[in-house]
This record gives sequence, structure tokens and C-alpha cells, in this order.
Amino acid sequence: MGLNVRNLRQAGNDRAKAVYFVIMSDYQTAIIGAGVVGLAVTAELAPRGSTLVLEKAWKFGQAASSHNSEVVHAGIYYAPGSLKARLCVQGNRLIRQLARDCGISYAQVGKFIVAASEEEVEYLHWLKENAPANGVTDLRWVSSDGLRKQEPSVRGQAGLFSPTSGIVDSHALMVHFKTIAEQSGADFVFNAEVVDAKRLPPTSVGGPGGVSGYELTVRDADGALTRITAEKVVNCAGLYADRVAAMFGMDVQALGLDLLWAKGYYFSLEGGHKLGIRHLVYPVPEKSLKSLGVHATVDLSGAVRFGPTAEYMEQKIEDYSFSDAATTPVAESISRYLPPVDASRLNPMMAGIRSKLTRPDQPPRDFYIREESDRGLPGLVNLIGIESPGLTASPAIAKYVAELLR
Ligand SMILES: Cc1cc2nc3c(=O)[nH]c(=O)nc-3n(C[C@H](O)[C@H](O)[C@H](O)COP(=O)(O)OP(=O)(O)OC[C@H]3O[C@@H](n4cnc5c(N)ncnc54)[C@H](O)[C@@H]3O)c2cc1C
Repeated sequence: MGLNVRNLRQAGNDRAKAVYFVIMSDYQTAIIGAGVVGLAVTAELAPRGSTLVLEKAWKFGQAASSHNSEVVHAGIYYAPGSLKARLCVQGNRLIRQLARDCGISYAQVGKFIVAASEEEVEYLHWLKENAPANGVTDLRWVSSDGLRKQEPSVRGQAGLFSPTSGIVDSHALMVHFKTIAEQSGADFVFNAEVVDAKRLPPTSVGGPGGVSGYELTVRDADGALTRITAEKVVNCAGLYADRVAAMFGMDVQALGLDLLWAKGYYFSLEGGHKLGIRHLVYPVPEKSLKSLGVHATVDLSGAVRFGPTAEYMEQKIEDYSFSDAATTPVAESISRYLPPVDASRLNPMMAGIRSKLTRPDQPPRDFYIREESDRGLPGLVNLIGIESPGLTASPAIAKYVAELLR
């Protein structure tokens, strides 16, 4: 099966059109990757000009965007001034607004962060003091008794309550962005993997130093190659964003932009409904923020699940299969804030893979979102290391990318 969208307007393979390509791109903007971030970016950019989304999977949102906790974070943990902090806080507000205005399923269930020791209580104090610098001013201190009143199964020395943390139907959010993008005329091509990219020489269009652009080589499900051109490219390729950046000639290793992958497992708990959990319940996270810890989340139907674990993967193989090796550590983690859990009652639910710039045991790194003119790649925006809170931040990331390309 060849690429569709009128076979990408007969692009690339048609030699007779070669001159046309040089003076006029097929599309103003090409977006690589149709996860929640690529879709949000497309919804934002499509009203400004012709936009094409190239997605290697058969459908949108098959990777991290459908293998996550669906938590709309408040922005508590991240370094003040970082993109993670700013875009998470803005994204939280935007998602709540979208839920109100566009009927996307969302529940503002609120979240407890629970301290299990004196040392963790200290950390909670630090978090509470840090949060206003990120614009999070609504955290409430909860005593051990207060915790028990709100969540009778949860034990802890103290807790922080975040009222603006919630859960969202990530699929509905993606459908919303895709619909908006299509209404503005964006084209989507699935089974279309970008396998190579090159910068085209500047042309006379737009005057001296004017429009140039990029040629992308796209492989379809049958292995056939097609070339298309775009003036601007946004790399939203998730786990492969470093590989895509390298296709444009960037030395990602030298730049410290090569990604590590970290897998996480989720479990349901037999009889878990008896715990009566109504809020999101998180432990105090590791300082490296490798993950936010094995937490209890309720989904929109009220069912509780536990996860995700976080282990760096030795080999970067996109494998969502399950291992039950994680059950014992998960049971131990949960037992820090809930009554002891028998590992044999944990049932596998789902696995997700995080794209991480942060090296093991190093301080957390920020999102890398950058227009690359100063690396000789004008009009290319790379988004690399868009791990959590990328779902929450997605609508804000889209606005930020649009600003970078303005
Ligand atoms: C276990 C886990 C839990 C998480 N929990 C939360 C949470 O509770 N709250 C939150 O805010 N965030 C959370 N996140 C983070 C969030 O899921 C991600 O930040 C977000 O989904 C990233 O979206 P994306 O579009 O950048 O990436 P993806 O969803 O991975 O999409 C990238 C797309 O690019 C495509 N692609 C890759 N290479 C190519 C190529 N060469 N050509 C064409 N297409 C290509 C892929 O097929 C994929 O569809 C979690 C993540 C994980 C893994």
C-alpha cells in the first residue's frame, strides 16, 4: 500500500516536478510524529498554512501517548523557570479549559503526595516552598490524621494536597487535536516513517536568503520511498526524536541529546477497589525524578491502578511486553503508603517507555525544545526528551513551538 493523501501530491518521485520542489515546498510545515505532542503542534500550526503529519505507525498516539498515567500534573516538582515547570503549569490550565469548552473527559480528582518518613516530610516542606516559584500556589499541607480522613487506606506522616491535579482521557485529547488540525486542512499520512532528511539550498522565493526548506525521505509500509519537501519541520518523534535530529546532520551524542529509554509497568490489584481510593496518591519522588514513584491513580471509571515502575533499558527496543519481575518491588513501594500488599495480587495492565535525556543518577534534565537556526537548520524545531509531564504540557508545548516558528 503506497502513501496516501493523493500520494503526497505525487511528490518526490515525479522528476518532472523537480524544479517546482526547489522553488516551492509541498508543504509549509511537516510534523514528524503523531503522538499527543505532534497532534497538539499540528492543531496549533495548521491554521497558518499547509501542514503535513508523517507518522510511522498505522494510527496516531500508539507510543508514549497511550501508555501513560493520564495524570494532568500541577507542575510541582520541576525546577523553577524550566520548560517543564512553565509548560506544565500552562498546560494544566489549558487542558482544564479544553475539558470545559470541548467536552473532553477530565476529572479534577486532586492528588496527595505522601511522606512515609521524617526525611520525606522535610522534602514535602521543600516542595511546598518551591511550588509558588512555578506558579503553583494552591498546595495544602495535610496532617497524618487529615490524610486518613480523606483517604482512609492511606498511611503517612504528612501529605501535600494538590487540588488542580487531575486525570484526562488522553485518547479524547488526541482526537480533539487531530480534529482541529483536520478542520484547518492538515494532511495526515500513516505508515509513513521518515528515514532521511536534508536541507535544501536557499531559493529566490521570499527574496535573498528567503525560503529554503527540507527534503524528507519517507518509507511506507511496503518499503517504498517517497520524497517530500517542507519549508519547516517539527520533530515530535518521541523515542526516536534523537535519531530524527541526527538525520538532519546534528551530532546528537556530542550535543548530549541522545536519548535513553526507561520502561515502566502498571498493575491492577485484586480487591483494589476495597481500598476506596478516590484521589491520586503519590509517594515522595526520587530526587533524580527518574520517575515520580509508583503511584495509585484512579481512572475515569474510578478503577485504581499502580505504577509505573522505572528502569533504564539496556537495549532500545520498542517492546511493551510484560515482565512480572516488577511485582515484588511494586508491592514494596505501594506498602509504603498503603496497607501491605501481596505481590501475587498484582496483575499486569500495561507498560510504557519514557524518552529520557537524564542519565541514571544525574539531576533531572529539562525538555529540549529548540529552533535550530544557529546550527544552520532554520525552520527546524526539535523536541527531544519529552517525558512526563509531556501529556499535561502538550497544548502549551504547541503554543511554544508556534512562537519559535513565528
Ligand atoms: C510510563 C509513562 C507515564 C507517563 N505519565 C504521564 C502522566 O501521567 N502525565 C503526563 O503529563 N505525562 C506522562 N507521561 C509522558 C507523556 O506520555 C509523554 O510526554 C507524551 O506522550 C509524549 O508525546 P509525544 O507525542 O512526544 O511522543 P509519542 O507519543 O511517543 O509520539 C511520537 C510519535 O512519533 C512517531 N515516530 C517516531 N519516529 C518517527 C519517524 N522516523 N517517522 C514518523 N513517525 C515517527 C512514533 O510512532 C510516535 O507515534 C508518561 C510517559 C510514560 C512513558
